[in-house]
Amino acid sequence: MSSYLFKKGHIIDPATGLDTVKDVLVVDGVIAAIRDAIDEEHAEVFDLDGMVLAPGFCDMHVHFREPGQEYKESLQTGALSAAAGGFTAVACMPNTVPTIDNAETALYIRTKTEHFPVEVLPIGAITKGREGKELAPMAELRAAGAVAFSDDGTCVNNTKLLRIALEYAGMFDLPVIQHAEDPYLFAGGVMHEGFVSTSIGLPGIPRLAEDVIVARDIAVAEYVDGVYHVAHVSSAGAVQAVRSAKERGLKVTCEVTPHHFTLTDEHVRGYNTNTKMNPPLRTRDDVIAMKEALRDGVIDAIATDHAPHAIFEKEVEYAHAPFGIVGLETAIGLSMTELVHTGYLTVFELIEKMSTNPRRILRLPDIRIEEGVPANFTFFHPEQEWTVDAAQFKSRSKNTPFHGMVLRGRPRGIFNRQQLVWIAE
Ligand SMILES: [Zn+2]
Repeated sequence: MSSYLFKKGHIIDPATGLDTVKDVLVVDGVIAAIRDAIDEEHAEVFDLDGMVLAPGFCDMHVHFREPGQEYKESLQTGALSAAAGGFTAVACMPNTVPTIDNAETALYIRTKTEHFPVEVLPIGAITKGREGKELAPMAELRAAGAVAFSDDGTCVNNTKLLRIALEYAGMFDLPVIQHAEDPYLFAGGVMHEGFVSTSIGLPGIPRLAEDVIVARDIAVAEYVDGVYHVAHVSSAGAVQAVRSAKERGLKVTCEVTPHHFTLTDEHVRGYNTNTKMNPPLRTRDDVIAMKEALRDGVIDAIATDHAPHAIFEKEVEYAHAPFGIVGLETAIGLSMTELVHTGYLTVFELIEKMSTNPRRILRLPDIRIEEGVPANFTFFHPEQEWTVDAAQFKSRSKNTPFHGMVLRGRPRGIFNRQQLVWIAE
């Protein structure tokens, strides 16, 4: 029998509305008691004074590179990175080698990770090989545990295919997650198209590439009554389109990454390839639009788009570097620093965007913090300052633009599947 006693945690649970400071006793992975003061001499005791105890965070958009590119990240190192970032569940995108476009690959991911403290949920591809030509076997993927469908990394550009995908996924009430980017407008671009790209001489990717796809997709989703989710929104125009879709009552949701509400294209000036991501870092106005849309509830979720790349791959000319950065271990710190300590969100709202809402979008059951249910928590300190040190990352890759940044708010551990992962101070 294992017993853990978490003392004086600030429990915040959007599913039950709980917002209180209490002791929580967990016995054999189940919440045995939540009371003002608990004494249990056989339990291992953790002092949560000053810390928040929240339902386990869920990152609905990560790239773990297994199968196929384990030198960047494996399921094991990805899960370690997620745990260190405060996540108890992640949904992994299908751009692995082979693609998650068949039951075997989806089952491989589930089976290999079933004992990890972090649940790794496969997202099935929309099209075979993510080639945009032929639909993947969506029913089979669903049966093998896929929680959504996406060709992330590339846009489903064929409108007819997108329509059929929305119709099929809608039968299971699952979302189609679009990487919204017109390939013709994107072609050749490496950063946001604007004043900075012109002044430093790099080819640009216009906002329009994102805006036109989101507008088109919403029209299709409305026509077939589909469940549609926009991955990593970055432009003010895309957010505006989602806002108007929500006002019309459509089943449309979206997520934003911490880098898109923290950094701008000005950060590309030093040609640091860890500022190269897709969609690209945009302008100050876009960053403010992201924060306002988070506050208004137009942006439902914060997701990292954790995209590990080996150092040698990023240590090349800007134009030739791959897109993407790691994000799991800086997500809470950046979100607290940029959104909560600036007054855009309350801690309660942040928990909704990093736990409750992503789980609801993926049709996962709510996590409740109440007696008698399996314990699934994240612990974080909302005030603790720390300096990002990529060398300390649990991720196999270190490609972050945030190395050296001082953040306020730090993950301190998770509990899930009867396992505690505790991050020492
Ligand atoms: Zn993407």
